[in-house]
Amino acid sequence: MKIVKNLSEISEIVSDLYKSQKKINFIPTMGNIHPGHLSLITEANKFEGTNIVSIFINPAQFNDEDDFMNYPKTFEKDLEILSKTSCKIIFTPDKEAIYPKGINSDKTVFKYRNILCDLFRVGHFDGVTTIVEILFNLIKPSRVFFGEKDFQQLKIIEQLIFQNQLKINLIKCPSIRDLSGMSLSSRYSSFTRDQQIKFAQCASIIKSHLINLKKNFNQKILDNIQDELKNFGISKIDYCEVRDDNDLSLSMTKKRSRLFVAFYINTIRVIDNFILY
Ligand code: AMP
Repeated sequence: MKIVKNLSEISEIVSDLYKSQKKINFIPTMGNIHPGHLSLITEANKFEGTNIVSIFINPAQFNDEDDFMNYPKTFEKDLEILSKTSCKIIFTPDKEAIYPKGINSDKTVFKYRNILCDLFRVGHFDGVTTIVEILFNLIKPSRVFFGEKDFQQLKIIEQLIFQNQLKINLIKCPSIRDLSGMSLSSRYSSFTRDQQIKFAQCASIIKSHLINLKKNFNQKILDNIQDELKNFGISKIDYCEVRDDNDLSLSMTKKRSRLFVAFYINTIRVIDNFILY
């Protein structure tokens, strides 16, 4: 497994792969590798080509300085985990190399905006599309692998590929969940024991209502989820909504729809979505 930091080195590797007609499967991450990330690599293994994983904690997508500072950084452990996978190249650039003129982001995707996380993390998705464009330009992948856990992000990347007419196949990968039914996330590695217990209890509140929501959609159920979470001490709930898979519009049916939730356990943000069909 090769670890590449340098932009010119990765460009050389990419160009050599192209010369030998090798396709590139690209899996962008922010590290703190967990089974959710590994599932993207497993998905990539189903296709021919060379797997490149990037580890880059992108400062441009953090709308909160503390969140950036506290984001789990476990580089050595990540390398150890990744060395046991089919991943041949890890691209891990410095922020100075990626943003030589200073950290900045552009608003280029306007679809799927002003809803869900975009309302609460202003500028986040501009940071995401900026880094994704930079990485796509460098890595020139044939296929990219993104998780459905970050469903709005997935839709925005899909739109980015569409509007830039990129010849990139976006492979959408299902969420890998823990026993409580919640999707795994790097952020949760910072939970204290108490927060872990709180998280599991929130999971069981959501799970119990999910059963009813799947049986028979009803707005009241969404109110009940929020009320129960609040009663349980969750003071900051960003959203709890059912939206359409295709266009992310609010949905009044379980058809083609998902429950989207975002809330905080202390300072740690939990986001997830659950297929209702
Ligand atoms: P991150 O390192 O959190 O930026 O995530 C990198 C990629 O892994 C994104 O495409 C995420 O959607 C995906 N991912 C993160 N958690 C999971 C999960 N639990 N299941 C599947 N994919 C995930």
